[in-house]
Amino acid sequence: MIRTVVVSQKNIKNMSLTVNKITKLYGKQKALDNISFEIKTGEIVGFLGPNGAGKSTMMKIIVGYISQTSGEVSVNGLNTLGNIIKIRKQIGYLPEHNPLYLNMYVKEYLNFVAGIYKLGINTHTRVNEIIELTGLTLERKKKISMLSKGYRQRIGLAAALIHDPDVLILDEPTTGLDPNQIIEIRDLILKIGKEKTIMLSTHIMQEVEAICSRVIIIDEGKIVTDNLVKQISEINQEKEQTIFVEFEKDIEKNEINTIDGLLESVELSDKLWALKSKDDNDIRRNVFDFAVKNKNRIISMYKEEKSMEDIFRELTNRNDN
Ligand code: ADP
Ligand code: MG
Repeated sequence: MIRTVVVSQKNIKNMSLTVNKITKLYGKQKALDNISFEIKTGEIVGFLGPNGAGKSTMMKIIVGYISQTSGEVSVNGLNTLGNIIKIRKQIGYLPEHNPLYLNMYVKEYLNFVAGIYKLGINTHTRVNEIIELTGLTLERKKKISMLSKGYRQRIGLAAALIHDPDVLILDEPTTGLDPNQIIEIRDLILKIGKEKTIMLSTHIMQEVEAICSRVIIIDEGKIVTDNLVKQISEINQEKEQTIFVEFEKDIEKNEINTIDGLLESVELSDKLWALKSKDDNDIRRNVFDFAVKNKNRIISMYKEEKSMEDIFRELTNRNDN
C-alpha cells in the first residue's frame, strides 16, 4: 500500500480566531491591556515582543490554560469560556518550555498524547504519520532525555499536531536552539503552515521575516503594530530617512544646515555626516548641489535602509540598550 505523508487528513478548513478586548491582571500588574485581533484561515502570524511583553500570557488564554480578567476569545465562533474542551480539539499548542516526559520514548510519548485526544483506532496511523512529518523516524525508539533540544522541539510540534488541529499556537518554538536547529524548525513550521493557521511568538524580528506573513507586535501588554510583514517595513521607512555622506573637506554645522529639506544633521566625524529628512523628500540631489556650490566633493553617500530589527526596537522603545 502506498501511503503519502500528509500534514492533515483534510484540506485547510475555514477557521477564525478572534481576540476581543482581552485584559489580564496579575495582582495589580496589567500583563495584557485591552488586546484585540483576529486571525483568519491560512495565516502564519508572528506574535512579536520583548521578554515580559505578555506573549505567553495571551497564548495561554487562547488555549484556555489560564483565564482572562476581561474580554473574550473565540475560535470558529465559539467562546473559549465554557467551550474549552471542544476548542482544544481544534487547537494545537506548543508551550513555552515544552514540557516533555523525559523518561518516555518518542513513540510511546506520542501514543500517550494521542490517547489524551482519544484518537482511538486511528492512533497508530496518525502517530506514524506525524513521526514522519516531523522528521522523527530515526529517533522514534529513543528516550526523550537522550535527544537534543532541536529534536525535543520536533516532539513538541508532533504532540501539538497529533489530533490534526486547524490552528497551531506555538510559544517561542525556536528559542534556545542552535542556528541549524532553528532553520530546521522554521522549515517544518513553513511546511505545516501550508495547511494550518499558525500563531507563533518570538522575540526575534528575523524569525518573523523568515516565516510569517503578518506580525502583531506587543509591548507592555499593548498592541503597537498589527500589519503585513512586507507593509510594516515600508510604512516605517516612510517616516524619515537618514543618509550618510562623507565629504572631502571639513564642513561646519551651520553650513550643512543650509541644505534644502534637511530635518537634522549629526556630525559623526569631521567629514562624515548623518543627514535626516522626511522620507517623501529625498535630499540626495540637494546634498550634491550643496557640495558643488561649496566647492566640496562627496566621497561617499548612502541611504540607510532600516532593518526589521531596527523597526522592532523603535516600535517597542528598546533602542536604548
Ligand atoms: P512574554 O511571554 O512576552 O515574555 P509573559 O506573558 O510571560 O511575557 O509575561 C508578561 C508579564 O506578566 C511579565 O511581566 C511577567 O512577569 C508577568 N507574569 C507572567 N506570568 C505571571 C504569573 N503567573 N504571576 C504573576 N506575573 C506573571
Ligand atoms: Mg513568553
